[in-house]
Amino acid sequence: MKSATDMDELTGEDGIPLEEIYNMHHAKNIAKNYKEIIEAVGEDASREGLLKTPLRAAGSIQFLTQGYKLNPEAMLRKAIFRENYSQMVIVKDIELYSLCEHHMLPFFGKAHVAYIPDGKVVGLSKIPRIVDAYARRLQIQERLTDQIRDCIQNTLSPLGVAVVIEAQHLCMQMRGVQKQHSITTTSAFTGEFLKNEKTRQEFISLVKSR
Ligand SMILES: [Zn+2]
Repeated sequence: MKSATDMDELTGEDGIPLEEIYNMHHAKNIAKNYKEIIEAVGEDASREGLLKTPLRAAGSIQFLTQGYKLNPEAMLRKAIFRENYSQMVIVKDIELYSLCEHHMLPFFGKAHVAYIPDGKVVGLSKIPRIVDAYARRLQIQERLTDQIRDCIQNTLSPLGVAVVIEAQHLCMQMRGVQKQHSITTTSAFTGEFLKNEKTRQEFISLVKSR
């Protein structure tokens, strides 16, 4: 087992750049566990190509779960301003990368988000940022969809929110049922999108148009 001092040697100029590691104290603990995993699956953790892998993987998993440190509702609240625009605002094809909480394997795809303002709008760049803030956690696609919807509804109080996520799950594609091309679609609505079939259809057709 490598000591923490040995881990120090892996960082710095010819090791892993410190900025790739979110929290060095936690990274060292995570790295110890990754080293055990590497050995437990039958690999030689001391061979050259794997020497830096535990710490590199630790930095990587910290990056992929950095959403726990973020407060998406606070992020949105800072970017709200008054505006009398009352048509549907839609941000589509937001790239999305998350980790399924059952296998800790990636699921990835696109999120489409819309809302109908009620006197307040939010800076458009904030929508992809809250998608990331929830996606960079251990997730299931259904909860991720609901959390994005609820965050916008709770902070902006619009007339309605619509969220659709289309994603491929590596835990299905690389293992399990090995359905290579299946795409899972989830949706969540509030307000006008729930009440008004026509509004919902308008959103769906805007999402589908390329
Ligand atoms: Zn899974």
